[in-house]
Amino acid sequence: MNNKIYKMGIVGYGGMAHWHKRLIQTGNANQKNAAAEITNPLGIEIKGIFDIDRKRLDEANAEGLVAYDSFEAMLADDQIDIILCATPNDVHRDVVIRALEAGKHAVCEKPVTISSVDLQAMIDASKRTGNVFVVHQNRRWDGDFLTVKNAYNEGILGDVFEIQSRIHGSRGIPGDWRGKKENGGGMMLDWGVHIIDQLLMIVDDEIDTIYATMQHVTNDEVDDGFRMIMTFKNGLSALLEVATANFIDLPRWYVLGTEGALRIDKLGGGGKDADVTRITDKTKNDATPIVTAAGLTKTMAPRTRETTVSETLPIKWGNIKEFYANVIATIEGKETQIVKPDQVMRVMRVMETAFKSAELGEIIKFEE
Ligand code: NAD
Repeated sequence: MNNKIYKMGIVGYGGMAHWHKRLIQTGNANQKNAAAEITNPLGIEIKGIFDIDRKRLDEANAEGLVAYDSFEAMLADDQIDIILCATPNDVHRDVVIRALEAGKHAVCEKPVTISSVDLQAMIDASKRTGNVFVVHQNRRWDGDFLTVKNAYNEGILGDVFEIQSRIHGSRGIPGDWRGKKENGGGMMLDWGVHIIDQLLMIVDDEIDTIYATMQHVTNDEVDDGFRMIMTFKNGLSALLEVATANFIDLPRWYVLGTEGALRIDKLGGGGKDADVTRITDKTKNDATPIVTAAGLTKTMAPRTRETTVSETLPIKWGNIKEFYANVIATIEGKETQIVKPDQVMRVMRVMETAFKSAELGEIIKFEE
């Protein structure tokens, strides 16, 4: 049995790097107790960090980590096996390529980078060096997503013809690099990358068309939200929305099939199960017209219990520790990586097509 403990260096020691640190050191990314015992249960030990901000280096020093004076110094450390890149998005490309070329494996935060040309250079570097390059698409382990994916695969809604996936906030873009174009800011790259990746993990079909509009409610430089319609060759259509100026949010998921519908209100389920309503009898007409002062409708009358059943589906969480278990297994040649470079490239190309659609105001045929 191989009990090697892999040594990791982290580049960019901000918010997300600390999330990785807690997960790697304690097995629980929500572990906020600074005195929590470091047991490195994932088989990885964080050796040191590099950050351009002196305060981050001092913090790492105080924590007993190595604070490298330069990225070159980290690259030159023979003990480092894996480099985690958790910098702003525009920096990912160079960090990853230089890490791979220095003989390290690279784990890169999402969005992998800011263009498909840059991503291709990263994939080429991984192929050239034979070193592993994995992107942290962690929202593949989210409970709301996995619940929708299971419902889709099990066919409990019949033929699904529409998937709506939204993530709404009301705080605008954080006032940091996320608001700047040169750093790869904007909500398409920040959140779009997650919800597009999730959608493509659910729908196993070729994309037909993409239409998108970008929002600029609080930020002119980068999109602070977007709305996008994707159609697939099998006829399914998807509405994807990210917004940061919505004081009332719409459901996280709304999925429509020929036999029923599913709704999940909050990210992660928000402590609630998924709501599902399914048809039980297509032969009976249970419509009691809705009569208002101004009119009457039978078409839009809600169904009763006579022909439908309403149920809940428990939210099924994934185990995010699988991400790093898979990174190690990939390095050791025992598994193929869960987040594959071609999947990441497809998502990047979808985002680029969405930007182009928004710029031209046109529906664009997607080339698979
Ligand atoms: P942050 O601003 O909190 O931290 C970034 C750090 O990188 C800062 O400490 C900054 O000083 C440092 N830095 C900047 N340029 C650098 C350089 N050239 N070399 C070394 N260090 C540099 O940002 P964050 O929220 O931690 O985001 C970092 C990355 O993580 C982004 O790519 C972001 O999209 C991603 N992220 C992912 C998730 C997720 O759920 N997967 C969540 C949040 C952020």
